[in-house]
Amino acid sequence: MTAFSTRAVHAGREDLTDLGIHAVPLDLSTTYPARDSRLEATRLDAFATGEQPEGMPVYGRIGNPTVQRFETALAALEGCEAAVAFATGMAAMSACLLAAVTDGKPHVVGVRPMYGTSDHMLDAGLLGTSVTWASTVDDVAVAITADTGLVMVETFTNPMLTEIDLKELAVACGDVPLLVDNTFATPVLRRPAEQGAQLVLHSATKFLGGHGDVMGGVVACDEQMARKLRQVRIATGGIMHPLAGYLLLRGLSTLPVRIKAASATAAELARRLAEHPRVNKVHYPGDGALVSFETSNATDVINAVRLITPAVSLGTVDTLIQHPASLTHRVMADNDRHEAGINDDVLRVSVGLEDVDDLWADLDQSLRPTPPSNR
Ligand SMILES: *Cc1c(COP(=O)(O)O)cnc(C)c1O
Repeated sequence: MTAFSTRAVHAGREDLTDLGIHAVPLDLSTTYPARDSRLEATRLDAFATGEQPEGMPVYGRIGNPTVQRFETALAALEGCEAAVAFATGMAAMSACLLAAVTDGKPHVVGVRPMYGTSDHMLDAGLLGTSVTWASTVDDVAVAITADTGLVMVETFTNPMLTEIDLKELAVACGDVPLLVDNTFATPVLRRPAEQGAQLVLHSATKFLGGHGDVMGGVVACDEQMARKLRQVRIATGGIMHPLAGYLLLRGLSTLPVRIKAASATAAELARRLAEHPRVNKVHYPGDGALVSFETSNATDVINAVRLITPAVSLGTVDTLIQHPASLTHRVMADNDRHEAGINDDVLRVSVGLEDVDDLWADLDQSLRPTPPSNR
């Protein structure tokens, strides 16, 4: 097998040279003409079981060739047999939960802290699941019952950027599928399938796209699981738009260089923040492009940044800063948020590709108390 960075550029595009084209074709078709109705009927039957027979996908909700290239590439990067793409990360997560529910296993064990909307979806049981919350491998082992259809965890956790031992967790899960939301780490830094995860989920909206201009979600898994997820996708219609598939495939080709550059800058910012007199605590896992830190009057910092973009989301080429207690984790119950350590002093920075000294100058000036005359 070729190296990771080579796969990032070539996976999903291997046939292009023989086709005599260089850029990936963007297929916007909603329907696919065919003269042989009998043949189409058998192909449609196959699609309905979640298979992907040769040829065009009959109808745009069933499949799309451009999106399929992105799926092929992401599967190759995560080291999985297959991948199934969705409209957003939450659509991808919904499909995984619905697959568990339809298997008659509606109980989920969730490892906290978790992305705010994922936490809310599980805690409110919006899709007919019930949840037991856990924070350690031992908690997970105790929480699993005969009805458990999924164990869900994030790497790294949001926004405190802690990490659980995935190998130990996978062992504790036994036969229950382990879903790892790998949005924060990306396959550049962590490949959860190698540690025993059956489902690796991404909000492709973040690092995979990388430029803040495309929404998407994707689940990498084995072909058997992929068939279930495709069936759910056909029925619920949460498909990825072909243009998103195009942009995400393009995003994957620069993913390794973007993550490496942003991680180096994030590590340096974490080091400087730890020495800043107005910073009480820094949360940085040692790699990755996310840094969280604690300072009093955190919302004043958001107000004061000039180069850094004050916005939710992450993984874009420009650096973003946000206040989790107000924004990404607002939907959580106050108690649950505080238990997860997300106090009002926490700020989360998604480091982009700007020069480290320019970013530091902006953070440093934002951390200074505002002179009374300027208020
Ligand atoms: C953003 C995000 C999601 C949700 O993805 P959308 O594309 O916004 O639906 C899920 N998990 C994590 C860790 C995220 O950061």
